[in-house]
Amino acid sequence: MFDIESTKEEQKEVEDLVNSFIKEVIHQHNPKFNLKFHDQSWILNTLLKPIILLFNPKFYSRTSLYFMNTLWVPNGHIHKNKFEVLQLLAHEYVHAHDRKKLSQPLFYFLYLFPQILFVPFLLLSMYSIWFLIPAVVSILPIPAYFRYKLEYRAFLVNKVFNYHIFYMEGAATNEYIVWLLTSFKYYKAWPFKNLIRIKLEKETISNQAPYKEIVDFLRKRNLITL
Ligand SMILES: [Zn+2]
Repeated sequence: MFDIESTKEEQKEVEDLVNSFIKEVIHQHNPKFNLKFHDQSWILNTLLKPIILLFNPKFYSRTSLYFMNTLWVPNGHIHKNKFEVLQLLAHEYVHAHDRKKLSQPLFYFLYLFPQILFVPFLLLSMYSIWFLIPAVVSILPIPAYFRYKLEYRAFLVNKVFNYHIFYMEGAATNEYIVWLLTSFKYYKAWPFKNLIRIKLEKETISNQAPYKEIVDFLRKRNLITL
């Protein structure tokens, strides 16, 4: 479960940081938030494993999944690089912030729109077979503006981390975000590469919620100086 290259002290440091971030930052918006490893879930690790591997062979080494207030991460993941883990948690923090602001039902409805329309159209098809047409159309990867907006806000965290911690060039971060939001990673949420690129280029590192809380935490722990 632990990364063999890091020492016990380093592992302890990351664990403390992770626990503090969850307690001091994420719990402000979601007191039930929890972090667990894939192998702590029988459903993920046994029942659904063959299906998950079929669709995502790298799931157990690379993919994190948020479900029912818990962020499920690959085994040993939190000991890899403290900043990568904090960036991942900061991403979830933005979602937790937005979920609270919008309310859970509205957040999930907007996140899954328009693909979620598949359900009512399918039910309506019991009355008229013609409803199968919009049902099929709605599950296609047609642009999902709200999913794009919600993920865009969460991925601005990468810009914060790249600016304050990784000292990465802004353009490289922007391209990564453009790729994520236009690829099947987010079911082609917003396939308009140039529009996203232009928007990202105009973006400044925000000094307001929810990003301020992330920067304040990093600063309080002396992890950043900028
Ligand atoms: Zn996200």
